[in-house]
Amino acid sequence: MRKQFVVIGLGRFGTSVAKTLSALGHDVLAMDKNEHVVQVIKQDVTQAVQADARDEDSLRALGVRNFDVAIVAIGDDLEANILITLMLKEIGIPYVVTKAQSVLHGKVLEKIGADKIIYPEQDMGVRLANNLIRTNVMDFIELSLDFSIFEIIAASRFVNKTLGELNLRAVYGINVVAIKKSGNQIVIAPGANAVIDEKDILVVVCNKKALAKLPD
Ligand code: ATP
Repeated sequence: MRKQFVVIGLGRFGTSVAKTLSALGHDVLAMDKNEHVVQVIKQDVTQAVQADARDEDSLRALGVRNFDVAIVAIGDDLEANILITLMLKEIGIPYVVTKAQSVLHGKVLEKIGADKIIYPEQDMGVRLANNLIRTNVMDFIELSLDFSIFEIIAASRFVNKTLGELNLRAVYGINVVAIKKSGNQIVIAPGANAVIDEKDILVVVCNKKALAKLPD
């Protein structure tokens, strides 16, 4: 479904979020108080405007309250970051994502109603470390502190076996929710008879610690 996003603050982080959402086919209003960065992103998003987002009248005039998601990507100016997050929630945006500088800053954002708080540098560091530690983990989505969805390359000793034979849930606490086969084929919610072929990618839900026990 096509969604409407407003991205406020077009530093490296905000710019990359705005461009990616736009490339994925969503409507993006990109906003910055600096005219130069607005001109630079203009071609890549639905609409780019120069405005100080601390000005509630400007936000309302741009129809920001009708957007599904707002991303506050202002880093250095803590006051602006907090004030804008608060205003966006008051205006009634259902989902506001704000970039935090520190854990304390994150706590303030949580108190004023930010729906998601991100720490880009830390998050990226965690992601990289996870990817480096287990070379067969291709990607993951964090569901909670302990649980994630992982995409892992099937271990060689799994090949030609069925999920029933492997019994991954009982042995490792790993739930296989899908198997990606070659040629973009995907088996959703595979049953006990599903056979694992070479180079299959398993989409699994499990505790992070369970993955460490998995054979290569
Ligand atoms: P990066 O993503 O590059 O790490 P950063 O964390 O250093 O960015 P800043 O440089 O502080 O973030 O801010 C990013 C952008 O936000 C800048 O382009 C700045 O002009 C813009 N910005 C700051 N305050 C406001 C505001 N009140 N309204 C609109 N844009 C703002």
